[in-house]
Amino acid sequence: MKEIFEDSRSVEVIAEADVIVVGGGPGGLAAAVSAARAGVSVLLVERYGCFGGVISQVGVESIAWYRYEGTTDIEGIGIEFEQRARKMGGSRNESQSQSEMLDPESFKLVADQFVEKAGIQPLLHCLVAAPYLEGNVLRGVITESKMGRKVILGRVVIDATGDADIASRAGAPCKKTPLEEMLGVTVMFSCSGIDKKRFQEYVRDNPTTYGDWAESWNVKTSGKEDSLFSPYLDKPFKLAREEGLIPDNILGIGGTWGSITDSGEAISMNMIYMTGYDCTDVWDLTRAEIEGRKRVNLALKALRRYLPGFENASLRNFGMTLGTRDSRKIVGEYVLTGEDVQNQARFEDSIGIFPEFIDGYGKLVLPTTGRYFQVPYRILLPLEIDNLLVAGRCVSGEQIAHAATRNMMCCTVTGQGAGAAAAAAVLHNTTPRDLEIKQIQDILVKQQVRLY
Ligand SMILES: Cc1cc2nc3c(=O)[nH]c(=O)nc-3n(C[C@H](O)[C@H](O)[C@H](O)COP(=O)(O)OP(=O)(O)OC[C@H]3O[C@@H](n4cnc5c(N)ncnc54)[C@H](O)[C@@H]3O)c2cc1C
Repeated sequence: MKEIFEDSRSVEVIAEADVIVVGGGPGGLAAAVSAARAGVSVLLVERYGCFGGVISQVGVESIAWYRYEGTTDIEGIGIEFEQRARKMGGSRNESQSQSEMLDPESFKLVADQFVEKAGIQPLLHCLVAAPYLEGNVLRGVITESKMGRKVILGRVVIDATGDADIASRAGAPCKKTPLEEMLGVTVMFSCSGIDKKRFQEYVRDNPTTYGDWAESWNVKTSGKEDSLFSPYLDKPFKLAREEGLIPDNILGIGGTWGSITDSGEAISMNMIYMTGYDCTDVWDLTRAEIEGRKRVNLALKALRRYLPGFENASLRNFGMTLGTRDSRKIVGEYVLTGEDVQNQARFEDSIGIFPEFIDGYGKLVLPTTGRYFQVPYRILLPLEIDNLLVAGRCVSGEQIAHAATRNMMCCTVTGQGAGAAAAAAVLHNTTPRDLEIKQIQDILVKQQVRLY
């Protein structure tokens, strides 16, 4: 390996806060709001120009598509995201469940409002490049931006980057799913020019279920999902393959549609699923973005030719970045197991609940029965490094556990828990590891989180 050595240099401190949250997705946003509401100063730093993470940057609308009549759901900031979006006119009814689709563009405004109302210091267009450590104790983060290399100091840092960037660079044990088992990536897209009425008639005449979806994608359900409606599109792509429009060697085209607006826009087209890409490798990210756009182009051609209502569809946009489902995760004080999420685990250190909703690694369970598990605090706590917590997609868990915790609403649960814990550590002048669980739970109860 060819290497160079950088000169050491002094780096200017541009801000200080009790709690620094890195990444403004569902996990980071919930963490920042929770910590700020608990009364400590919070800085929320984000590499792109808007908060919202996968919602606003990738274009995923469905924060709670798992919610059926019998679901026991979370109570906390994630529900507020849904409610505030609806109040601000930034959501639509979801087609398969009792939930809201969050409009990706409007959610940028919703997130700004959460940040402003909670009194959080926002910092956009600023990449956190490295942790600032004294021994194994985190003292802040080193950033890179148009202003150059700068430091932000903080008492507790919450890594909500989705990829455990801070934890891994600090040296906390992390792991990745082997590439051949890793969940796929997606270039989302939206299009305009849809004849909504014609499309709705097609959906009515060609109903699709989770059973169809599971069969095509080799997914095992618990059985009760099979007859439920799914906004799943497969037929146009099958026809396109039969007629040679989509070559046989290009797999993973097909998936779900989201909102179709009255003005003829299909907002959240989740039709491309590509495996074999490691999202912590920029060469892989580059290949995936370019290959994904090519596949969207093919998918669009197929939709125009074979899907009634989409004859005049034109590309409106690609998600502003590739969608990652699976990358680095910490190995925390506790590793959540598949058993836990499928067998209603109960924990003394619960920071919230999440329904028995499993989506990934060849398994789909929808929480139609009211079953749920408790989320333990220890999955947010990395080993070896102090003053650090993680939230969202990169919490500690096995594969099937990740198929539950990666879901956006669960990311808000771990986010709110991390925010409360960070605030408690500051208020009690201790570290997240040395907190008593009651000190965190007291804050969460005040914030009306359901713990049990
Ligand atoms: C295509 C696709 C479809 C999905 N569909 C659904 C669905 O229907 N329902 C559902 O519940 N879940 C769905 N998921 C999963 C879910 O969206 C994610 O797991 C969830 O958004 C993760 O939240 P997060 O806050 O951990 O991370 P993210 O939403 O990824 O947010 C991380 C944030 O951190 C920022 N960031 C990253 N690194 C840095 C850095 N070094 N410095 C500064 N900022 C940084 C990013 O820009 C981003 O804003 C889907 C995921 C994908 C990709």
